[in-house]
Amino acid sequence: MMIGIDLGTTNSLAACYRDGKPEIIPNRLGQALTPSVVSVDEEGTVYVGQTAIERGALHPLETARAFKRGMGTDRVYPLGAHSFRAEELSSLVLRSLKEDAEAYLGEPVTEAIISVPAYFNDMQRKATKQAGVLAGLTVNRIINEPTAAAIACGMGENGRDARYLVFDLGGGTFDVSILELSGPVMEVHAIAGDNFLGGEDFTMVLCGLFSQHTATALEQLDPKTRGEVFRAAESCKCAFSQQQKVTMACTIDGERREMKLDLSQYEKACAPLLERLRRPIERSLRDAGIGLNDIDQVVLVGGATRLPVVRKFVIKLFRRIPGFLVDPDQAVALGAAIQCGIKARQIREVVLTDVCPYTLGTEVMVDNGLFEESGHYLPIIQRNTVIPVSRTQTVYTAHDNQTRVNVKILQGESRMAYNNLQLGELSVPVPPGPKGQEAVEITYTYDVNALLEVEVYVPSNGARRRVVIQNQENALSEEEAAQRLAKLQYLKQNPRQEEQNRLLLLRGERLYEECPEHRPEIDRAIMDFERAMSHRDRREIQSVRASLSKTLDAIEFGAPRK
Ligand code: AMP
Repeated sequence: MMIGIDLGTTNSLAACYRDGKPEIIPNRLGQALTPSVVSVDEEGTVYVGQTAIERGALHPLETARAFKRGMGTDRVYPLGAHSFRAEELSSLVLRSLKEDAEAYLGEPVTEAIISVPAYFNDMQRKATKQAGVLAGLTVNRIINEPTAAAIACGMGENGRDARYLVFDLGGGTFDVSILELSGPVMEVHAIAGDNFLGGEDFTMVLCGLFSQHTATALEQLDPKTRGEVFRAAESCKCAFSQQQKVTMACTIDGERREMKLDLSQYEKACAPLLERLRRPIERSLRDAGIGLNDIDQVVLVGGATRLPVVRKFVIKLFRRIPGFLVDPDQAVALGAAIQCGIKARQIREVVLTDVCPYTLGTEVMVDNGLFEESGHYLPIIQRNTVIPVSRTQTVYTAHDNQTRVNVKILQGESRMAYNNLQLGELSVPVPPGPKGQEAVEITYTYDVNALLEVEVYVPSNGARRRVVIQNQENALSEEEAAQRLAKLQYLKQNPRQEEQNRLLLLRGERLYEECPEHRPEIDRAIMDFERAMSHRDRREIQSVRASLSKTLDAIEFGAPRK
């Protein structure tokens, strides 16, 4: 069985294609969204999702979140005695989604289509594939999140031809895509985005305001208290979806500090972030060669589009009310599941054309009129070219009697080579001779998975070198990958059936720490529950669990939660 996975910065979710429609797969707690948070205890037990969030409140140093931002880098996340790379943490989230899907579907899940932000570069895409492999999944395709979202919306509208602008603001990334559904073809015209802009930045604005207002230096707080401030900011941010005024409060060094804020003050403080949202929109329209009025449908995707300041910004810019054709949290996973349906030939083929998000090129010398200046960028595949694509450029030897030509493989938009990201390098021998005599053909092939293959060919001596960009220092060798797989398999996943109980106990422990005035009550309720668990009587456990949950809801929210 193949499933579609939206591996998000904040939340992840899985969906499948069954009985002619895409369907969200609930996790072990019965929820659609699994927070992309991982916590590992001293014994090597792994907690993922909501349970990891609860554990993180008590053990922030053993808990990691937002690691999608580190994908494709060699950043290491220490979690207590263990340390992980971003793709390993992602693989633990994927493993949990895979298990949940298997339990829900009642059959093994071995393949997946995983979405990534359109703006992810080759290294980030490879790391995502690697995460899939480490979780025991064959990654059939990497699909761009906005493409998946547009598929979910386009197919939901019975395939009516339309031009879409997908505005996807998740926890940590922002993507804008312009797509057109025309008959059986879903064509991507342009994509643009910002890899370092998302809902979390809007939370950080609140943290910043709180810090100013209460004269608290956040960076000097211990990680637990900082976590509390962040959680308070996050919940106030979400509260703005329902109310005009919020009160953000935290207990710091035993003293309650408070800030009252209204929506217009918050909006003012968010102005620089809103300005950053504008740029990729303008760029994508320019690249697609169309204006704002040519867009038929603005599709909001990603949890952060629920923010009133973001919605107001979109309405003002496009002078129309954007449509929520599908739940903004679920669009990407549903689109990935539809893609699974297409792969399995359960739905009519939709030809998916995608574009390459970055310009890919190489470094050359250029005659500036006075002398040959090195370090210039020669684009080979321009950004927003429809993929798969293959382009060849011929370059010539730059010096007399040169015996080798080094081809740097670069990605980026800058005129100067050194400002762009080097993905790899190839070197071919050339027969010595006067400069400019030897031609070298460089072919870049960019496939639908956005993986780049480079071939360098010297016609005069037939020398040929090829590379599928793999030799970045942070990519894993096969041996390393096997080692990491072994290491991850050694970690035990918290058993599925214990998840609800564990989550509730962790929440109880957190509230015990946060609410000194309720300690005796919480202590008693937790002990009752632990005793019930030791009796192993299902009905008793269920009843005491409900009572503990009610007690904790009353303490945390003032009333039992529905
Ligand atoms: P995603 O990565 O799409 O799951 O988006 C997660 C981001 O959406 C996080 O930054 C959340 O704080 C934000 N978010 C979720 N719900 C809301 C809401 N009701 N109002 C504002 N932001 C929200």
